[in-house]
Amino acid sequence: MHYKKYKHILLSNGTMNLTRGCVHGCIYCDSRSKCYQFEHAFTDVEIKEDAANMLDDELSRKRNKIMIKTGAMSDPYMNILEVLNQTRACFEVIYKHKFGLSFQTKSTMFLRDLDLLTKIHEDSRLVVQMTLTTYDDDLSRKLEPNVEKTSDRLKALNELNELGIPTIVWISPLLPWINDDLDNLKNLLLSCKNAGVKGIIWYGPGLTLREGNREYFYKKLDELFPGIKEKYQKYYGLKYDIQSQNKNIINNYFKSFCEENQIMYSQDEIYKYINEMNLSKVEQLSLF
Ligand code: SF4
Repeated sequence: MHYKKYKHILLSNGTMNLTRGCVHGCIYCDSRSKCYQFEHAFTDVEIKEDAANMLDDELSRKRNKIMIKTGAMSDPYMNILEVLNQTRACFEVIYKHKFGLSFQTKSTMFLRDLDLLTKIHEDSRLVVQMTLTTYDDDLSRKLEPNVEKTSDRLKALNELNELGIPTIVWISPLLPWINDDLDNLKNLLLSCKNAGVKGIIWYGPGLTLREGNREYFYKKLDELFPGIKEKYQKYYGLKYDIQSQNKNIINNYFKSFCEENQIMYSQDEIYKYINEMNLSKVEQLSLF
């Protein structure tokens, strides 16, 4: 872990990344790709120095209250004390200025900040976005070795639901020959339904591979799933967009399940929902 100075923290669309790099160890991670031009080891997490003060200054100059989003490129809840402290400090600033918050994570460590997060939701608005890939805990240990297993994430989603905090789930990626089977999807969708998840972000079964993440992914396939790398090489070559051989069955099941259970799946609709600062509790309830 190391610190680096930046001049700004917030982009004009209300997104921010508090760190660069990640220690969760997901074998398929796209953020490892060369195009992101990391100048340090991916797991040597860079923390943006003085992020909370920069955010305080930038929010104090914003005229309109908006939803602040974080977690798209690196998880705000990594098991590194300095990262956790910085995330909490930034969320305190968001609470102080009465902005809304939506963060994306694979970790359940946000539960340590539940006091603050509940206050943000009561005062303005909070939407938690959680990624799930497999219903099988043993498999999730292999795919995402340094973060809580799926059953823990589902418990956390249920806890948020009981508190009335809306959640969005990313089901991604579903890796060919590993977790792109219909049973896995059925179990994940049922768990989302039971946890009152409002919407599911979905890119279809498959993943993206390019220079940097492909090499890492293939190395992990050799270690964890012998013989599967060769299938990828045979069927996909150097393709960027790797689509599951089961994509029609999987996509059809996904759409009908979401429609039958009133779970949002249109990305436009979900992003609008996440960004809606003035969606009151009554409106949130009446949507469903
Ligand atoms: S949580 Fe995201 S950024 Fe971190 S290793 Fe996993 S895929 Fe990569």
